[in-house]
Amino acid sequence: MGEFELIRNFFAAAPCAQGGEGVALGIGDDCALLDVPHGEQLAISTDTLVAGVHFADPCDPFLLGQRSLAVAASDLAAMGATPLAFTLALTLPTVQADWLQAFARGLNVMAQHCGLQLIGGDTTRGPLCLTLTVFGRVPTGQALKRSGARPGDLLCVGGELGNAAGALPLVLSQRTAGPLISEPLLAHYWSPQPQLALGQALRGKATSALDISDGLLADCGHIAAASQVGLVVELDRVPISLALEEFLGDSAAQQAALSGGDDYVLAFTLPALELPTLLADGWPIHVIGRVVEGQGVQLVDDIGQDITAPVRGYQHFGV
Ligand code: ADP
Ligand code: MG
Repeated sequence: MGEFELIRNFFAAAPCAQGGEGVALGIGDDCALLDVPHGEQLAISTDTLVAGVHFADPCDPFLLGQRSLAVAASDLAAMGATPLAFTLALTLPTVQADWLQAFARGLNVMAQHCGLQLIGGDTTRGPLCLTLTVFGRVPTGQALKRSGARPGDLLCVGGELGNAAGALPLVLSQRTAGPLISEPLLAHYWSPQPQLALGQALRGKATSALDISDGLLADCGHIAAASQVGLVVELDRVPISLALEEFLGDSAAQQAALSGGDDYVLAFTLPALELPTLLADGWPIHVIGRVVEGQGVQLVDDIGQDITAPVRGYQHFGV
């Protein structure tokens, strides 16, 4: 099968590639064309996933398709953007029809879940690698940046942390667990749910936001640096799932929640007066700390004592 047949069969034919709102021209020309309504800005983010680095190889192609797009879409959630479209640059060692079919199905499921249209890409031969670029739209000036946190704001997260990191020994078949533990953890790893609706609900309310991909403490460090403030995280308030606690035990579960990667849950800062309405509207918001004057991220125990450990998130070229 040649490059063009492959694109036609597996990607151009996918339900998520048939066009939709905002897509003036999709797959097939030299560029796709997007319509951006007056008064809105385009939010753009690229993620690359390398076999053996970002996912185990071999792995289930359906789950890989689903997860790759979820990870990319999470950046739109973090900016408060409304999903519009995405491109897929795919590098493959060989053309295997059943692999491509399952991968495209997984991609399509997440695309439809997120409201993202596949509008183009590139297809090349080489070691398995995926690059996804997502496009979203956001009212001009309302994107949630990392730089607006102010002393006195609450530090919040949008859900339980550490599940995907906890799932890794299961993903890598290093450990096993019963379905009550393995199912929720593996679901979080393979099918993260980008918090798109929460991100949009936080527009004009949150003072800063990001999605946690490298671990809570490391990513909070990015907000602290960009906003030139300090963040205090109260360990006891960090939400952890029962499945994770039972699988790893209290202390390792806390470690996974603080430093494990791949959560794709939003972390954001919020003036306290915004909290009651958001909670009343049913958003899954957990207050885990506060913004202070200063710099860096401090971890404290239930009586406020500093227990900041030398823990950091995953860094590709880190020391
Ligand atoms: P060009 O040579 O002009 O860069 P290509 O031959 O690479 O174009 O691709 C032809 C069309 O197919 C383009 O519209 C491109 O965006 C699209 N395309 C290529 N690979 C993919 C893919 N993996 N998924 C979706 N669309 C793709
Ligand atoms: Mg090309």
